[in-house]
Amino acid sequence: MNPLSPPRRLVVLGSTGSIGTNALNVVEAFPQRFRLVGLTAHKNWDALKAQVDKHQPKWCVLTDPEMQWTMPTTTLKPGMKTQVYFGTEPLEKQLRGLDVDIVLNAIVGAAGLRSSWAALEMGKTVALANKETLVMAGPLVMNLAKEKGARLLPIDSEPSAIFQVLGERSADQVERVVLTASGGPFRGKKRSELANVTPEEALRHPTWKMGPKITIDSATLMNKALEIVEARWLFGLRPEQIEVILHPESIVHSFVEFKDGSILAQLSPPDMRLPIQYALLHPERQPGPAKRLAWKELSHLHFETPDQETFPALQLGLDVARRGGTSGAALNAANEMAVSRFLAGTLAFLDIVDVCRAVVDAHPYNPEPALDDLFAVDRWAREEAARWQPTKKSSPTRK
Ligand code: NAD
Ligand code: MG
Repeated sequence: MNPLSPPRRLVVLGSTGSIGTNALNVVEAFPQRFRLVGLTAHKNWDALKAQVDKHQPKWCVLTDPEMQWTMPTTTLKPGMKTQVYFGTEPLEKQLRGLDVDIVLNAIVGAAGLRSSWAALEMGKTVALANKETLVMAGPLVMNLAKEKGARLLPIDSEPSAIFQVLGERSADQVERVVLTASGGPFRGKKRSELANVTPEEALRHPTWKMGPKITIDSATLMNKALEIVEARWLFGLRPEQIEVILHPESIVHSFVEFKDGSILAQLSPPDMRLPIQYALLHPERQPGPAKRLAWKELSHLHFETPDQETFPALQLGLDVARRGGTSGAALNAANEMAVSRFLAGTLAFLDIVDVCRAVVDAHPYNPEPALDDLFAVDRWAREEAARWQPTKKSSPTRK
């Protein structure tokens, strides 16, 4: 890029989370390249306020509208010009504004879809950590981006690896992609050993430090199931072309095997600042804050076939990728509800995937939904998953 080019005007959604704070770390490393226009959090005003004081964006949003009644009156530094909004409507209005070039979406869960949609509708570049956008609405989102000439750049490390490897090559030269998975804290365990695991055990991820929802998804391997669906839509792959391999060191972030048998991979230490930087500076590569690989680490890389019986989420992810339509929205919503029930102690670990399977199979399937149909399925699936009770003695609800 021309060093005299104006800074990219950036919004970071979910800026107080794990990806959000890493994104601000990248932005701080390139002060000439970005102008932070907006920051958002759901409820955490203290964390958002500290970021606003430091970066002085034009505006910030607490997306939980209730916060306007409870937020402490001691607000921003005297003289600060940042405008504070509450709720999702003002956020979408800001995202559609002419002063935004890139929207980095690091919101967790289905709540991220509307923001991705608003930004893409205006032809903005979306740097997407919120995989739920593609799991719920992959075909609609990809069509919208195409129609509006908007760019969708993945931040999730495995899709980013595939994106970095593919470059300008079209997906019809690809034989298959192999998504790597760390295997989470329960890699190597049998199903019977997981009946009574606690949230504390499931939250202890061996390689990545992430928000609680995706950390539980990594323990059930639902995270990889969601990434199968994400990769299918993002790269226009057939589900049969997508495989998963366990790789406990989290250094190879995915493999792409081309039609001629050549396999290319992207490697780097587990540090989300690299895929974030790649999306934000795309297509440039610059020295940044992400950790560097010590070459000796390559002498102990391991790869294993996942145990499908212990981790049935993988098969569910493939089934959802095959069925398409409303299945992704049903899976995502059921999983969000099941994870929050597990964290609250009202659902056993092994029941998380059982709830998801039951809700996906029972949901009112529509092969060609509109956006509103997806939100209706999302609501339905949450209610079903909130009500679901185990029938088998082998998967008791924790007391
Ligand atoms: P997190 O829980 O650490 O942070 C979530 C952010 O979203 C916070 O800023 C929170 O205030 C905001 N938020 C929460 N609920 C919201 C709502 N209803 N509406 C609007 N904002 C809301 O999560 P995270 O680990 O940073 O993950 C964010 C997204 O990135 C997820 O989609 C996750 O799957 C994806 N992702 C994360 C990682 C990682 O390393 N953490 C890696 C790959 C992909
Ligand atoms: Mg990932």
